Amino acid sequence: MTMSATASIASSSSVRPVLSHPSAPSLWAATAPAAPPTPPLAAPLTTTDVLVIGAGYTGLSAALHLAESGASVCVLDAHAPGWGASGRNGGQVNPTLKYDPDELQRIHGAARGERLIDAVSRSADLVYGLIERHGIDCAPVRAGWLQVGYTQQAVDGMHARARQWERRGVRVELLDRAATAARTGTPAFAGGWLDGRAGAIQPLAYVRGLVRAAQALGVQVHSESPVLALERQGTDHWVATTAQGHRIQARQVLLGTNGYTDGLWPSLARTVLAANSFIVATQPLGKAGAHILPGGETGSTSQRLLLYFRKDAQGRLLMGGRGHFADPQGAGDYAHLERAVALMFPGLGPLQYEYRWAGRIAVTRDFMPHLHQPAPGITMALGYNGRGIAMATLLGREAAALMAGGNALACSFPVTPVQPIPLHGLQRLYIAAGVAWYSLLDRLGA
Ligand SMILES: Cc1cc2nc3c(=O)[nH]c(=O)nc-3n(C[C@H](O)[C@H](O)[C@H](O)COP(=O)(O)OP(=O)(O)OC[C@H]3O[C@@H](n4cnc5c(N)ncnc54)[C@H](O)[C@@H]3O)c2cc1C
Repeated sequence: MTMSATASIASSSSVRPVLSHPSAPSLWAATAPAAPPTPPLAAPLTTTDVLVIGAGYTGLSAALHLAESGASVCVLDAHAPGWGASGRNGGQVNPTLKYDPDELQRIHGAARGERLIDAVSRSADLVYGLIERHGIDCAPVRAGWLQVGYTQQAVDGMHARARQWERRGVRVELLDRAATAARTGTPAFAGGWLDGRAGAIQPLAYVRGLVRAAQALGVQVHSESPVLALERQGTDHWVATTAQGHRIQARQVLLGTNGYTDGLWPSLARTVLAANSFIVATQPLGKAGAHILPGGETGSTSQRLLLYFRKDAQGRLLMGGRGHFADPQGAGDYAHLERAVALMFPGLGPLQYEYRWAGRIAVTRDFMPHLHQPAPGITMALGYNGRGIAMATLLGREAAALMAGGNALACSFPVTPVQPIPLHGLQRLYIAAGVAWYSLLDRLGA
């Protein structure tokens, strides 16, 4: 084959290595069903309709939907499926964005706004539908999400949000202090609301189930195959080269690399802040934890630097929240989350923590997920701002429709230009300043 590259997008010398974030011994890694075999790419040259880079929810959802429409698909991950945030998250399936539905309509206009709201609202159905259709063994529960607040002012704001969703047919419950205490198992909150669309899963098990479902449709999935270079070949193909020097020729390429985006497409990593989120999990609490989220709901606080919590299938209590930019070095880096557990559930007394782990989310400047098509045959979906289970599954499906020849105007999310954040080199500083500012506002109750 002649390699007449007309444009070289990235070369191995210019590509930063994928972040060497430790694959922490997470609760999910310890309790997920075994990973299906995904050997490193071994063929010197592979030809496929679509190459997907990144085997998280974005890439796997896209691969699955493309394979269903008859395309040949090859998925490569630098590490393994679920090594990124998709295998490390809190497992809360929340069909929401940062913006309330009325705000989305104001920002995007009546018609596009309603389409976007509808797609977001149905995104949890998409996840649970895939789980059911493909028989994915990932402990799915759909008991709703509790958003809870410490002040009456915060609760009033949440109730207004709940009413907006209720007007659009969503099952919500407005909760006062007593009802919130009964649902969460703590009197710490002034109130909250329940979003009946939401639920919980074992997130790494969901990844592995998506891999199995995709493989059953003929998708090739390869671990330990970092893509180091992408070159345009002629007018209708791209050629990707892996760290091992193997090459893949594809008509379409999807980058689904979110918080682990490297320099493969030079400007893409600069469109997001790759912030850390940390989680701790106790030992199974047994009867001592029976009063905590007895209905199987998930929960998060309404602060800007929110805490998110749930129980797993074995009754462990999980608490997640902000982490500093640097990767965690030891148990001390998680002390703020263990303090939050003690404050929220003082009756539990001293606790043993079995797992502490972290991962990277991708924060965008406008707090919206982004879909890009910066060149013919290149699609990118990322920037879920910490809400990626439902949203990345949805954008993976949208990216698949686009790559299958769909019209960008038919997408629920706008297809936007790649716009780097100014002075992105200061992202560590941006994140530290954002955390300090948000924690001040949270303390002031603003
Ligand atoms: C601690 C934590 C808690 C979270 N909690 C929740 C939650 O409860 N609910 C929720 O909805 N969302 C949550 N999120 C967010 C959610 O996990 C992410 O938004 C989602 O997993 C993103 O999926 P993805 O497929 O886009 O990216 P990822 O799952 O991060 O996958 C990206 C993959 O790209 C690969 N990659 C990168 N560069 C290359 C390359 N050059 N070649 C090959 N492969 C490459 C990486 O190895 C990685 O596996 C949380 C995230 C974290 C970190």
